[in-house]
Amino acid sequence: MKTIVEIVEEAGISLKKMGSIYQGLCPFHEDLKTPSFTVYPKTNSYYCFGCGSNGNLYIFIKEYYGLTDKNEIYKKIEVEVSEEIKESINEKKEDYKHILLLTGSQFLFNLLNQNKEKGFLKMKQFDKLMNKKEITLIEFQSILTKIRSA
Ligand SMILES: [Zn+2]
Repeated sequence: MKTIVEIVEEAGISLKKMGSIYQGLCPFHEDLKTPSFTVYPKTNSYYCFGCGSNGNLYIFIKEYYGLTDKNEIYKKIEVEVSEEIKESINEKKEDYKHILLLTGSQFLFNLLNQNKEKGFLKMKQFDKLMNKKEITLIEFQSILTKIRSA
């Protein structure tokens, strides 16, 4: 089975490793200046800061190649479709909280280095939000926007 990094690179997007994540130019919007497409190997998921497109391995292939046939998508990922795999790679939305934690932490870390006072303030707000039990996609996007508009 292929990883999301392999799949994205096969699509012709070059990725740069930044710690535990990868970044590159987003294929879903005109991303010319700064790479805003972020890939998370741990969760096999992606998120774009520019256009907000996000999802898992399955959704990336579906969106990028415009495939609708499940079996074609599985073929690209190179998996034998067993029930077990079907369950792990499906259209179920990824764990936003996890992605948020990764992107938020990276952003806060940068902010703390630039401006300690502002960084601590944002960190407090962030902690409060992260204590919520479940986060929906809309909440997730608005939280990211809030964090980034420091
Ligand atoms: Zn984008």
